[in-house]
This record gives sequence, C-alpha cells and structure tokens, in this order.
Amino acid sequence: MAEKTYQFYCDHCGFKKITKGGEDVKSLYEYKRSSIQKEIPHLDPTTKKAVTTDFMKRKRTFRCPDCGRMISARQIKLIEIEKPVEKATLTQKEITQRIIKRFDLIYGEDEENNPSGH
Ligand SMILES: [Zn+2]
Repeated sequence: MAEKTYQFYCDHCGFKKITKGGEDVKSLYEYKRSSIQKEIPHLDPTTKKAVTTDFMKRKRTFRCPDCGRMISARQIKLIEIEKPVEKATLTQKEITQRIIKRFDLIYGEDEENNPSGH
C-alpha cells in the first residue's frame, strides 16, 4: 500500500468521494487558506534579533461539488479483501442429495412412512 487513500465526506448533502494519491482532487475547487505561524515573532533578549517560528500545517479544504459547503479529506485505510477460494462445482446428483437431506431435516424422516401427514 504505497498510495495514501483519502475520503471526502460532506455532512450536509452526503457527498462522498474516495481518492487515491490525490490525482482526481484537481477537479475539486480548493479554498485557499492563509498560513499561520506557530508563535508570534518576538525579539530574542540576548541576541537582539527577531525570532520567527515555523508555520502550522493546515488542513486543505475543498468545495463540495453538490452543495458548495466546505469539505476536507481524511485519511482512510482500505481493507483488502481476499477473494474466496472457488468451491468445486457440485454435480447434479450431489445437489439433489442435498435437497433431499434438507427436506428430511424440515419434515422429518419418519414422514416418508406416513405421506398423508397429520
Ligand atoms: Zn455537500
């Protein structure tokens, strides 16, 4: 799993989109967000120089194509489901035998001796 998978979900209208690698994100309109510094730039008392800090990482936000509200992506994990091993195909005789067995379970084997029932 090299590619990261992300899911967009709109709470308002239920729009859902799963993207792998973010290539198809280009079709969505991205809202521009200004970067914010982690701390206010301040003066270092000993060196007398301004100390600037790094910028915070902000979540990218996009416009929902259905209703226009702001949506963001969250990383999801896709579970790889193993394909079930193909069962050997039953012959017609085996199928009939199974059906008879089921009937026996439902109606009881002693029913055969008394077909009129009740
Ligand atoms: Zn929406």
